[in-house]
Amino acid sequence: MKLFLQSITTRIAIWMIVIASVPLLVIAYTLLYQKKDEITAQHLSNLQVVFNQTIDKIETNLQYQQQLLKNIAAKQRIAEKLLSTNPNETMQLDPVIENYVTNVVKENGYYDFFILSETGVVVYSYKKEGDYGKSINDLSMKKTALAKVCFQVLATRSSAVSPLEYYSHSKRKSSFIATPIFKNQKVVGVIAVQLNDNHIFDLLKHYNGLGKTGEVVAGALTPDGKVVAAMPLKYDADAYKNERVLNAGHNATGMVQAVRGKGGRGEVIDYRGVPSLAVWGYEPILKWGIVVKTDKNEVLNTFYKDEEQLLYILIFIIIALIGTIFMSAKRITRPINNLIMSMRQFRKEGVFNLNVAECEGELCYLSQEFLTMAEEIKAHQHNLEEKIHQRTNELRLAKSSIENYVGIVDRFVITSSTDLNGKITYASKAFEEISGYSNEELIGKNHRILRDPQMPNELFENLWETITSGKDWHGEIRNIAKDGSYYWVSVHISPNFDAQGKMIGYTAIRQNITDKKMIEEISLKDQLTGLYNRRHLDAVLEKNCQMAERYNIPFSVAIIDIDHFKNVNDTYGHQVGDYVLQSLSEILKSQCRAVDILGRWGGEEFLIIFPNTEESEAEIAAEKIRKAIEIFPMEYVGNKTASIGVCEYHDNLNETIKRADEVLYQAKAQGRNRVCTYRYNKQ
Ligand code: GH3
Ligand code: MG
Ligand code: MG
Repeated sequence: MKLFLQSITTRIAIWMIVIASVPLLVIAYTLLYQKKDEITAQHLSNLQVVFNQTIDKIETNLQYQQQLLKNIAAKQRIAEKLLSTNPNETMQLDPVIENYVTNVVKENGYYDFFILSETGVVVYSYKKEGDYGKSINDLSMKKTALAKVCFQVLATRSSAVSPLEYYSHSKRKSSFIATPIFKNQKVVGVIAVQLNDNHIFDLLKHYNGLGKTGEVVAGALTPDGKVVAAMPLKYDADAYKNERVLNAGHNATGMVQAVRGKGGRGEVIDYRGVPSLAVWGYEPILKWGIVVKTDKNEVLNTFYKDEEQLLYILIFIIIALIGTIFMSAKRITRPINNLIMSMRQFRKEGVFNLNVAECEGELCYLSQEFLTMAEEIKAHQHNLEEKIHQRTNELRLAKSSIENYVGIVDRFVITSSTDLNGKITYASKAFEEISGYSNEELIGKNHRILRDPQMPNELFENLWETITSGKDWHGEIRNIAKDGSYYWVSVHISPNFDAQGKMIGYTAIRQNITDKKMIEEISLKDQLTGLYNRRHLDAVLEKNCQMAERYNIPFSVAIIDIDHFKNVNDTYGHQVGDYVLQSLSEILKSQCRAVDILGRWGGEEFLIIFPNTEESEAEIAAEKIRKAIEIFPMEYVGNKTASIGVCEYHDNLNETIKRADEVLYQAKAQGRNRVCTYRYNKQ
């Protein structure tokens, strides 16, 4: 959907549809509503004509009635009869007049016919109801429409019409027309007729020209200010009887205005609540508001039909427009789509198929530009592919030589990598070979499995401190192989870093120096006891001399000689003698400090160098050693003793050794199993 809305075709089409339809809709609906106004105006003028005719009809009729009465009143016989009769008594008409009156009543459909004396007494009544013989001044008459109209006639000396009001003597609503009877310019009485309400309703109840729903409504204002129906309504026959209120509810503007004497026309809501077109106005004789109206729906029926028809036509036109516009838009965008298809084909197959010669305008330039660009890209791509091919070959060669090289390294270089905790992550073949462990046994294990417990802790502490701070460490380490044998390696450990410079582990490269170490050991150590040999002791002594001379650091020596050792050899044989020498070596080793250098001085004599030690401290150390020998029971021979000569270095090494020897002989001479120290201050 989004794609559809974004396409140029859709966008062009939508714009074109909007541009084409909006004015169309505006024009169509403007014309339609103009027609609506015309229909409304036309109907209102028709209503106005009916309204005017109605008012005319009422007034003409009433004027006719008035004229008729005037003619009767002019009859001299009635005047004379009135003059000859007591004005407060009823009178008898002569048969001729009586006949005339009867004819008038019947012809005009009057309800009743009255003659009143100048004093206002009903001296003659056709119907002779309760009002006959009564005076209009009587209480029962005073407020009736008859009385009111007669008072008016007597006062104005001219005829008058009363509004339609309830007349109690006839028990019905009635309107009265009255006119004065003159005799010699003097009013001698009044003639009045009582109009039937139907008589008036008949004047209004014709709805010609008002359509099916049209109606003439008459309303009157009651003394308490309500506007009520003055005659039966088309849609409510009992409205008049029930005094239906016409000004109730909203928008009863037409009738309310009419009753209050104001005319007008327009759209109103009628007494049923139905929107209507109406013309209204006031009828002054009956004092009625008259509304002539037709339901709006009926009037505008043709308009609504036209509106519906127009809507269908518009829908049809717009659908046709959409179709046409989409087709046109497609025609406009077809070259673009062709170009897109060609580009897609070019992308997939590398072939550009658009016939540039056939296209026109901007799209032609676009296509030509694209074609040129596509060809350039193709050439460039070809170039690139060749370069890639060349580089790939080079890389392949480089890779194989690297692989070869890595293979060699793997086979011949003892290398391994660990993570930051010392867990092995890689081990070369050479590493496997020297350690005796397979790769599977090594990977994931800690490097500690190769550690020789005899290697000093300080060495490893120094190693870890160096590499964890990101520096390289180099040193010689003795490791233990899987089979328990040991091997020496010269190790170079470097930390590994990732691309962000974060330390991730360590790589070690080793060189097998076991042979070198063996030779070193042979040249430094005595074979029987494993202690340093005389040669090494000489070298260490020399070094200590230099330290003493240069830095004034003192050192002392002790020579240890086993007492009566010849006896051992003689008694138990040479082998036991050798064993005693080895046992003694172990005792000495266990008694010496790490810094002390212990070696076999020759035969059954041993020498200890105490670095940075004066004679008194050396003497204490020698005494401790002597005691340890004395209490140690050896196999075959039991407890043996030794004599020790101690001397601190002073200026000359040979002299120092000589002095140590001297005091050793002193110890022998003094009975053996003792320490004798050479003291310079005694000299
Ligand atoms: P003294 O108490 O005076 O020292 O008496 P001694 O018997 O120990 O005398 P001396 O120190 O002269 O003894 C040296 C003897 O040590 C001579 C030799 O037989 C013996 N000896 C020297 N080297 C070795 C050796 O490597 N093995 C054995 N078994 N004996 C040796
Ligand atoms: Mg000796
Ligand atoms: Mg001895």
